[in-house]
Amino acid sequence: MNNEMVLTGAKIVDPVTGYFGPADIHIADHKIFRVDKKKKRASAKGAMNLKGLYLCPGFIDMHVHLREPGREDEETIQSGAEAAVAGGFTAVACMPNTEPALDSAEGIKFVIERARAARARVYPVGAITVGRKGETLAPMLEMADTGAVAFSDDGSGLQNGHLMRRALEYLRAIDLPIISHCEYSDLASGGVMNESFTSTVLGMKGIPPIAEELMVARDIMLAEYTGGRVHIAHVSTCGSVELIRRAKRARVRVTAEATPHHFTLTDELIRSFNTNLKVNPPLRTRKDVDAIKKGLKEGIIDVIATDHAPHSIEEKEMEFDYAPCGMIGLETAIGLVVTELIKKRILSWPEAVAKMTVNPARILNLPGGTFEVGAPADFTVIDPTLEWVVSKDDFRSLSKNSPFIGRKLTGRAVMTIVGGEIVHSLI
Ligand SMILES: [Zn+2]
Repeated sequence: MNNEMVLTGAKIVDPVTGYFGPADIHIADHKIFRVDKKKKRASAKGAMNLKGLYLCPGFIDMHVHLREPGREDEETIQSGAEAAVAGGFTAVACMPNTEPALDSAEGIKFVIERARAARARVYPVGAITVGRKGETLAPMLEMADTGAVAFSDDGSGLQNGHLMRRALEYLRAIDLPIISHCEYSDLASGGVMNESFTSTVLGMKGIPPIAEELMVARDIMLAEYTGGRVHIAHVSTCGSVELIRRAKRARVRVTAEATPHHFTLTDELIRSFNTNLKVNPPLRTRKDVDAIKKGLKEGIIDVIATDHAPHSIEEKEMEFDYAPCGMIGLETAIGLVVTELIKKRILSWPEAVAKMTVNPARILNLPGGTFEVGAPADFTVIDPTLEWVVSKDDFRSLSKNSPFIGRKLTGRAVMTIVGGEIVHSLI
């Protein structure tokens, strides 16, 4: 056997069993070979001592934008994977809103081939419609055969209900989900921030919560009607959480994700006119932030995903109205999860880790996310008490558009292991 290694001394965070205690993990042939919870710790040569640290299955971010092909100045598959492992993510699913869009088997193949040289595992998401134009269905089954793990027109909502119905019907047969960016463009039209008291004060055009909620309701109903599987991307409103809660109670096949920025930041911050706060869906109110946290706690929201969206400085230096939407998130996610959710006792360690490992793995049918014997040896090692300040100079992403620069966070990924190889280490 090659690639043998023993990780010892850490507390393991097992998102499947909820076990949160000491164990030794034995790795061989790039896979988990044995998990040893006995008191006697490994002292064998080659054992790596991770005392004081937490060892989790490798984090999976099911919603990132890698900008290749098309905007390699902002991010590439390679640089995005570097940012991923620096943030503790061993795998990412990349969205198809590249230029051109990933709407063909060739596009999916391109990503998979480029990803071979990347440090993290990269799984492509295919477009639902050709060019993400919302007019004709893309060859989804062909893309699935080539390796697409889900389908989405992310970046904008699929306005056409008939196409959403057909897409859910096609994918039902192969049990892949639609990842729905829920937003009716006629209701959102022209908005640059949340429609609220703050948008009125600032004189900015608002995007009302109903622009999201109406499509969440439609997609839940279509999932129920077709028996297909829908995953609601970046839930941002209190009303969306409530719709998903009701749907789950009725056993509709719906899952959902929330981003660190939507459980941390409110629209009031936009008084600063910092364009790094301009995201889609927009930052909402305190009430929405609280509902998202409650939704995470209650399991209504299954996944924490970053919606990592790199943009160049030139693009973000425009006036707020004209700047593009999005912020990078891979390298700040775990710090925000620990600081905002775990330290504030919203989620326990196993609960938080489940939303970044086993839950996205199950939704996308991916390997990993657990400590099962035979699973890939992908791990994230966290220093749970490490305090650090987010610095622009530390970002491995090619883009620096983060509103969290200068913020003090607790908890950081100090080592990332993919397939038994250390791909990132601060220790
Ligand atoms: Zn989106």
